[in-house]
Amino acid sequence: MYSLPALLLLAWAALSAAFPATSQEDLEVTYGKMAQKYLERFYDLKTNGPVGRSKTNNPFVKKLEEMQKFFGLEVTGKLDQKTVQMMEKPRCGVHDIGEYNTVDKRAAWQKTDITYKIVNFTPDMAQADVEFSIKRAFKVWSDVTPLTFTRVYEGDCDIEIQFVEGDHSDNSPFDGPDGILAHAFQPGPGIGGDTHFDDAERFTKNSQQYNLFLVAAHEFGHALGLHHSTDEGALMYPTYPITDPYLFQLPQDDIDAIQSLYGKSSNPVQPTGPTTPSKCDPNLAFDAVTTLRGELFFFVKRFVMRVHPRVGESDMLFIQALWPSLPNDVDAIYENPYTGENLVFKGKRYWTLNGFDMSQGSKSITDLGFPKNVKKIDAAVHVEDLGKTLFFVGNKYYSYDEDRQAMDAGYPKFIAKNFPGMRPTIDAAFYYGGLLYFFQDNIQYEYNVQNKRIQQVLKSNSWLGC
Ligand code: ZN
Ligand code: CA
Repeated sequence: MYSLPALLLLAWAALSAAFPATSQEDLEVTYGKMAQKYLERFYDLKTNGPVGRSKTNNPFVKKLEEMQKFFGLEVTGKLDQKTVQMMEKPRCGVHDIGEYNTVDKRAAWQKTDITYKIVNFTPDMAQADVEFSIKRAFKVWSDVTPLTFTRVYEGDCDIEIQFVEGDHSDNSPFDGPDGILAHAFQPGPGIGGDTHFDDAERFTKNSQQYNLFLVAAHEFGHALGLHHSTDEGALMYPTYPITDPYLFQLPQDDIDAIQSLYGKSSNPVQPTGPTTPSKCDPNLAFDAVTTLRGELFFFVKRFVMRVHPRVGESDMLFIQALWPSLPNDVDAIYENPYTGENLVFKGKRYWTLNGFDMSQGSKSITDLGFPKNVKKIDAAVHVEDLGKTLFFVGNKYYSYDEDRQAMDAGYPKFIAKNFPGMRPTIDAAFYYGGLLYFFQDNIQYEYNVQNKRIQQVLKSNSWLGC
């Protein structure tokens, strides 16, 4: 990592301020104990063997590799920065071992009418807000299955809900603020199905951490018999989800898992949910693509794939993990080399990014000179050879002069006329190394602006090391 070009390191530093340049040995010294505890807790590491040293049959290394595989990290068997960062993320207290990504019907409730009881409340929130969050979390699962959830106030029930701290007599003590947020037990009698929230956390009803509805919806997945998923977009992924609680939709991975236990809902319109893109999917299509301070960013749905063009190792992240105020499913983005800013478009609004910071709020695209009838921009790109920013809208494009901060006269013009060979509509575009790259579904066109020719047709994900 330390031999990467300076540009990448600079950009990367913005995200890794918590990790000053440390050697492998330093990481092991600083985080070895933490990693040992993490692997004992979530990967059933049994012995107190030597930490981090690569020896054959070292149980620590084996479990570390298992953990790296689960989270889709590079399997190094070493305590590298990305692994430490993953271990430090707030998460569920249920382990990741065993039958993940599979379901065992014997682990399910053998009925569809489930009862629950709220034993006590957290002081963090009004009681009515706790009740609403819990109810909404159950509805996530009842919407896609024949399950019903009925609250009881006394007597026996299936799912007992409690807010507790530290050791609470179930052999799985909580750990104070952050770290483990909650845990739940598989269906069964007694403690089976019961769900505990770590009251050392501050739970909220809004998008501040930790939103009770999101944590509860995940835990109830366990209380209904689900294991953790390795799909990083799934609700049943072990770490606290990066998603707007108000806009939450149950991902398809979770729908498939719960329906394999309980069957489909009786709703005539079967619900579907968002799927997680895979960078090497031959059908991958992008919403928007841009350069950003030497790196390339490919936006797709809720995610952004980030790659250094000369290194080729790509990361997929939630858009909001980098820019918390950006929406999902953006339309277009471009980098303005004069200001160092990136403008992100969705519908009739745009947002301004300054590296990994962003300005407050959004602005109307009419401020840039677009006529009122333009409802969305398909693609945007600044072409240094022309000194212009091009905006593609349907079968036409606009030219914007960054010096004058105004649209050029005589536009929009037809794409087909001035970009021979290109057909509308354009999904995304970026400019790199003197060439324009246009994206259309799963195809990418390398376009030479000088001689107005397509000089190569590529797969959309050719930059992602596929
Ligand atoms: Zn969990
Ligand atoms: Ca905790």
